[in-house]
Amino acid sequence: MERLTYRFGDLVVDLMPSALSTMLAHQQKRFMQKEAGGQMFASLSENYWRIDVATGPRLGDRRGMFHFWPDRRAEQEEINRFYEQGLEFIGDWHTHPQNVPRPSAQDFASTENILRESHHDLPGLLMCILGRREPPVGLWMSFHPIGGGMRKDEATVSKEEKPQRRKAKWI
Ligand SMILES: [Zn+2]
Repeated sequence: MERLTYRFGDLVVDLMPSALSTMLAHQQKRFMQKEAGGQMFASLSENYWRIDVATGPRLGDRRGMFHFWPDRRAEQEEINRFYEQGLEFIGDWHTHPQNVPRPSAQDFASTENILRESHHDLPGLLMCILGRREPPVGLWMSFHPIGGGMRKDEATVSKEEKPQRRKAKWI
C-alpha cells in the first residue's frame, strides 16, 4: 500500500497505510451510505508528523448521508488511550459523498472550534476528508494553524517499503 506525504511549510506529514486503510474501509462508495469519521493520531518529532492511526466511527456518533457528528466523550477516551502509546491527536477525518471532496462551511467551523477549545501544544491541526475517488485525488488534507488560516497540499505518493524478510538458504 502507499504512503501519502504532505508538506505544510516546514511541517512534513506522512499518512501511513495503517491509518489510510481504516479510512478506505468507510469510503462512501454506495448510494445512501452514511458519512463516517474519526480521529487521527501521529507520532511527532520536530517538523515531522507520522499519522499511524485513524480511528473509525463509534456507536455514539450521529451519522447521516451528509453529516457526521462524533461522540466527543468516546473521542476523549481515544485521545487518552493513544497518548499512553506515544501518539498525539492531530485532527479529525471524515468521508464525503463527493468524488473529490471539498470541506463544507460546517467543516471549517468545526475545525476552528476544535482548535479553539482543545488544550494542546501543537502549531495547528489537520483536516482530512475522504471522497469517492481513490487517494491521493480523492483525499483532502489541510493544515489549520493556531493563528487562523489554512494550508493545503497535494500528496506525494510513495510505496511503503515492507521490512525486508529473507528466507534462510542453505547452499
Ligand atoms: Zn464534511
